[in-house]
Amino acid sequence: MKKHNFYAGPSILSEYTIRNTAAAVENFAGTGLSLLEVSHRGKEFVAVNDEARLLVKELLDVPDTHEVVFLGGGASMQFCMVPYNLLNRKASYLDTGTWSSKAIKEARLFGEIEVVASSKDSNYTYIPKDYTVSPDSDYFHITTNNTIFGTEIHNIPEVDIPLIADMSSDIFARPIDVSKYSIIYAGAQKNLAPAGVTIVIVRKDALGKVDRPIPSMLNYQIHIANDSMFNTPPVLPIYAALQTLKWYKEQGGIPVLQKKNIEKAAILYDEIDRNKLFRGTTAVEDRSLMNVCFVMNDEYKELESAFSQYASSQGIVGIKGHRSVGGFRASLYNAMPGSSVKVLVDAMKSFEKNI
Ligand SMILES: *Cc1c(COP(=O)(O)O)cnc(C)c1O
Repeated sequence: MKKHNFYAGPSILSEYTIRNTAAAVENFAGTGLSLLEVSHRGKEFVAVNDEARLLVKELLDVPDTHEVVFLGGGASMQFCMVPYNLLNRKASYLDTGTWSSKAIKEARLFGEIEVVASSKDSNYTYIPKDYTVSPDSDYFHITTNNTIFGTEIHNIPEVDIPLIADMSSDIFARPIDVSKYSIIYAGAQKNLAPAGVTIVIVRKDALGKVDRPIPSMLNYQIHIANDSMFNTPPVLPIYAALQTLKWYKEQGGIPVLQKKNIEKAAILYDEIDRNKLFRGTTAVEDRSLMNVCFVMNDEYKELESAFSQYASSQGIVGIKGHRSVGGFRASLYNAMPGSSVKVLVDAMKSFEKNI
């Protein structure tokens, strides 16, 4: 039976990505060797690394003021790398979920942290909007999409200090104005590639301003100066990322993907709002287009595991909600076809009819 993959991360990749990556694991670029066993400094892999970085720049319209590097350590490594490289005295953070609060925890090791607002008291069901950011902070950090709680920042705040964003779960899902940010980072396993590589887009003139010495591996300037090849990069995730980026370009780029994402999310949220069994868990205006969280209404709570079983019988995989929210979460990343979202919506409709 066809499987419909709604996992939150690692998560669905395009068939194009899987097929081409599998082929390169067998025979990479006509070398007669596997991608897994050749030098990362050979001309074939250097070309992959360079083309992938160029495509990130092209798809996101990255200005010359910024550079793109592929790093290891996951998005979680960026929680410490950002303050290591940019925090001199004080930084401001918006607390919108588990990942923001982890970023805050790490940053506290480097200086004074101002949490400008938090929706923790309501279990992160909304994005706080009324807050002020200290003008004397070194930067302001936001998490644009909250993978666990299903909220997304739809209006990026305007601030006069450098803006930093964790875009792990919504990079490439909508156009972004890169010039507004000093750093954008994203772990690959939500919308791009297998786990193991993190995309970091860095504004070059934001660097070199902290007083502390920075270990080479944690220093953005070192990675930029070495064309993102300071040490052995995660070759397989980067190869897969290149395939996904090509597939994005072939489809018409980010605006086309955004349009599809809006349509996919709309049919699922419409069904959640219509179906008497279910309700959404977040403020409507902050609903994520990537991670759709919903639970069963109180009077139907006992049907939760029956619905889970019915959904799996329809080939639906990975909709169990995160333990901090419960219920269900359907992740609708770029590679998720609209037809799979329809299968989920149909399952919700027929389950409602048959109770
Ligand atoms: C998944 C995720 C992370 C953590 O990524 P790792 O690569 O596991 O470190 C951080 N931030 C957001 C928004 C995420 O969705």
